[in-house]
Amino acid sequence: MRKTKSGENSDILENLWAGYGPDSCTMALLPVLCYPDPRLHRVAKQVDAVDARIRRLVDDMVETMYDAKGIGLAATQVDVHERVIVIDVSDEHDSPMVLINPQLIWTSQETHVNEEGCLSVPGIYDGVVRFDAVHVQALDQHGASRTIEAVELLAVCIQHEMDHLMGKVFVEYLSPLKRNRIKTKMLKAQREEAR
Ligand code: ZN
Repeated sequence: MRKTKSGENSDILENLWAGYGPDSCTMALLPVLCYPDPRLHRVAKQVDAVDARIRRLVDDMVETMYDAKGIGLAATQVDVHERVIVIDVSDEHDSPMVLINPQLIWTSQETHVNEEGCLSVPGIYDGVVRFDAVHVQALDQHGASRTIEAVELLAVCIQHEMDHLMGKVFVEYLSPLKRNRIKTKMLKAQREEAR
């Protein structure tokens, strides 16, 4: 039985997620923390064991990322402070990549400024300096270790999401003036939404 808010969309969701995995009927959307929520600055812990709990978290994060039309999501953003990231930079949004306990093992010397946005900072986009290419070692959802050699958007996305696990949001690369302006804007939007 799928858990949905209304229970009415089960069939549609069932079809949407058919073929995704055996746990697809138990996935749920997770609330995404919004900047400047202090919980976004917590440093995530290593995952001890890639077990059913972690796989459930991964499934929920993937669903949450797609629902929010994101290309990456870190567990920190859904208030789970463990080193888990999901990413999908494919055009079809059908190739989720799971990185558990990711470690940067190589970075290119070349960097570039990349225009970034974040599900935790809706509506804000700005330039951040990132390595052109990175190699990262991580476990997948089955606990298997692998090395990913990432370039272009995937490389940027991995760096952005790994920052989240260290408690860092991309706006912290911007000037204090810009950051404060964003903070004020976010708080105002959140107050209006709460009304
Ligand atoms: Zn983000």
